[in-house]
Amino acid sequence: MEKIGIGYDIHRLVDDRKLFLGGVEIPYIKGLLGHSDGDALLHALCDALLGAMGEGDIGEHFPDTDSAYQNISSVGLLIETFALVKKNDYIISNIDAVVIAQEPNLAPFKKPMRLKISSALGIPEERINIKAKTNNGLGEIGAKAAIACFVAVILTNTRR
Ligand code: MG
Repeated sequence: MEKIGIGYDIHRLVDDRKLFLGGVEIPYIKGLLGHSDGDALLHALCDALLGAMGEGDIGEHFPDTDSAYQNISSVGLLIETFALVKKNDYIISNIDAVVIAQEPNLAPFKKPMRLKISSALGIPEERINIKAKTNNGLGEIGAKAAIACFVAVILTNTRR
């Protein structure tokens, strides 16, 4: 049986933070504000996986009031979420993501992000697609004040 999940996240861009997206550190003058490392792509991916399983959302599983998750790498959150995917006998059929950032240019980092997610989840890179877009200068994202991500996933249950 196949299950679809979607995830969305947006984080504010601020000074004096490193920028992490898809588990990759990206050179830029600002980074994403957050309780963890602010990796909006991995947060949206976790939410998509949880959604497909009917397991609620990332806030229920990793509360931002819990100091255990302060400044941690979101790759850890992804690995914990994936443990639940395996426990529920699902395999990831594919992941499709949209990252919306006016700056920096993310095109050179799409491949490294796919590789990072591929190794964290132990699935072939071909099952992961990442699209990088600007917001055409519109709104908060266009004003370089935030980066947003959408992720869709299909999970297949191996039990039946
Ligand atoms: Mg988030």
